[in-house]
Amino acid sequence: MTLFTDFGLAQPILKALAAEGYEKPTPIQAQTIPYAMEGRDVCGIAQTGTGKTAAFALPILHRLSQNPKPRKPKSPRVLVLSPTRELSGQIADSFKAYGRNLRLTTEVVFGGVTISRQEKALANGIDVLVATPGRLLDLVDRRSLSLRDIEILVLDEADQMLDLGFIHALKRIVTLLPKERQSLFFSATMPKTISTLADSFLRDPAHVAVTPVATTAERVDQSVIFVPTNRKQVLLETLLRDPSIDRVLVFTRTKHGADKVVRGLDKAGIVGAAIHGNKSQPQRERALAGFRDGSCRVLVATDIAARGIDVEGVTHVINYDLPNVPESYVHRIGRTARAGASGLAISFCNDEEKAYLKDIEKLTRLKVPVMPLPEGLPAAPAPSESSERRGEPQRGRPAPHSRGHQGHGQPRQADPNADKGPKRRRRGGKPAGGQPQGGHPAAGQQRPAQGQKPAQGQRPQQGRPAARSSDGRRDGAQVAWLEKSPRRR
Ligand code: AMP
Repeated sequence: MTLFTDFGLAQPILKALAAEGYEKPTPIQAQTIPYAMEGRDVCGIAQTGTGKTAAFALPILHRLSQNPKPRKPKSPRVLVLSPTRELSGQIADSFKAYGRNLRLTTEVVFGGVTISRQEKALANGIDVLVATPGRLLDLVDRRSLSLRDIEILVLDEADQMLDLGFIHALKRIVTLLPKERQSLFFSATMPKTISTLADSFLRDPAHVAVTPVATTAERVDQSVIFVPTNRKQVLLETLLRDPSIDRVLVFTRTKHGADKVVRGLDKAGIVGAAIHGNKSQPQRERALAGFRDGSCRVLVATDIAARGIDVEGVTHVINYDLPNVPESYVHRIGRTARAGASGLAISFCNDEEKAYLKDIEKLTRLKVPVMPLPEGLPAAPAPSESSERRGEPQRGRPAPHSRGHQGHGQPRQADPNADKGPKRRRRGGKPAGGQPQGGHPAAGQQRPAQGQKPAQGQRPQQGRPAARSSDGRRDGAQVAWLEKSPRRR
């Protein structure tokens, strides 16, 4: 297994990675960093969410730190080109986070805001400039920026750059750069037009690629249960009565949501732990250790917190909330399909999350089979009775119609309540569609999928919860079907 320490990265960078909570490199990092450290050009196929920002930022920071130079006004040493202002901001945040123990400066410039502040920052001299192509050229034309001293160029999300019509800007930018430089080029896809563009930037590049996310999804047996928000907790508790759920990762969209789920489980007598950006390192380590050694069967996590987790033998992933970024769904369910093993992923979907489900199905090109609510699932509690536990409006729940359609080039929207990680951001995906869409039966009208409903009168057995009585546990809900969810339709 590759470790960050294997790359020979400078100590201050390793320290920053530890502070970020990164335990090991992602596949794109493991592939890219060694070449980039050698000074080679790299041509990478990788999507957002794979960790590609660190794949280029870490070796760049290392190389700059090993060869310190006084900052020159208007002349950065590194240029990172990115298609949107939001992505540019996130990349700059990453450079700042990973480089927090180095004396290097990063600035971000993009259009749509006054240029004078950007000119001032450049005039002071910076090391790393992250820019969208249009504003970059404006600054060059105003002689507020020179690309003469660029030592390393990154072109990120090349396919999106072309989609957005930046081809002419890119062709011009390449003529302004020194010929002697290192170039790192990334794109989610590599059709002919992009590889031709790559050729104009790169010299004898090393090629790296990570598996497109869709293939992960194919290995995982998935299902979705339509359920109103106020029955999600009770549904989760019911499913967890199934002993075949040996080690389960439950995903919520927010840190608050994760804590709330764990509190609910606790009341129901189910041992669970939460892991998210507000937990301290020791707390996270404790939760993980319990999950690994089996003393804690249920780990409730947010997306960011789950990224660095590598636990073998996760039998189930439950999406308590569906993510608004479809790629996150694939990353989540991929946790149960490690090393070729297949796993089960169950998603809870309320009316407002149906649009997210649609985005997910579009990305994975798979229809997620619908599972009915388990029979005998207790009704939603009256709000007064249990507002603390289930009835209160969920923070982090998508507001109806909150996801206005965004075309290419619009800044990606992040869920404001989502876990932004230990210290910072969450990469937004491209939300689509406004209203919840049809295509799936609404909660309460589920179409039972083939062969999944247990026979009436089935005795309690493995996979079926015991009747609730003296111990206050819930009764009658049949969950034997969980052991084998139906295949994709
Ligand atoms: P990116 O693909 O660069 O947008 O990264 C996606 C997310 O993964 C970001 O929130 C990063 O902070 C996080 N990330 C990147 N590398 C790692 C790693 N090695 N371990 C855990 N999280 C990571």
